[in-house]
Amino acid sequence: MSAVDVPKESVKRTKALSGVTVLAGPTAVGKGTVSTFIRDNYPDVWLSVSATTRQARPGEQEGVHYFFKSADEFDSLVAEGEFLEWAVVHGINRYGTLRSTVNAAVAQGKSVLLEIDLQGARQVKEAMPEADFVFLAPPSWDELVRRLVGRGTESAEEQHRRLETAKLEIAAAPEFDYIIVNDDVSRAAAALVDLMGLTPHHIV
Ligand code: 5GP
Repeated sequence: MSAVDVPKESVKRTKALSGVTVLAGPTAVGKGTVSTFIRDNYPDVWLSVSATTRQARPGEQEGVHYFFKSADEFDSLVAEGEFLEWAVVHGINRYGTLRSTVNAAVAQGKSVLLEIDLQGARQVKEAMPEADFVFLAPPSWDELVRRLVGRGTESAEEQHRRLETAKLEIAAAPEFDYIIVNDDVSRAAAALVDLMGLTPHHIV
């Protein structure tokens, strides 16, 4: 696969704080790792818990990592207009952000973080253009490929498909307000928390 130019970090604030920050980025860039780090170290950040139709992985807890839903339950939530955004991610499972939980957290003055895919980020941009949109970028294309192949959780065919999607996702980086390079998880998390207007000191 040919190399792809990745965007450089850009974290200078250009708009007013809105209280809602959306974090998106290509497969294997480490969005989940950065959000887990934030969940464990920055209690001031209210990390949105998505609904999903995928099965829980070992160690994942209902209401902490996701709200696990059957396909029928998810259909009902869609029909009732309960989602701020939702999408089929990697062609298999559905994931969505529940409007009610985000609205309640915003009403309580919390700093809300949504870790979602590009399709979801675009829907939030339609519904809440004032939110902050942050793209998590890899240090280089080669490093992204190394991370995806290195974690060994996808077949070669699936890796190829995800890297093709990653090219499209990286090309969408200019749609975002800010770019953070995930060269180091704690540094990237601190940069994100700083952008959210919170103090970037963690408790470990
Ligand atoms: P995983 O299954 O590894 O937990 O997550 C797979 C992908 O789903 C990640 O790219 C993650 O950003 C995305 N995702 C998780 N929650 C949501 C959501 O509520 N909405 C959307 N659009 N994507 C989500």
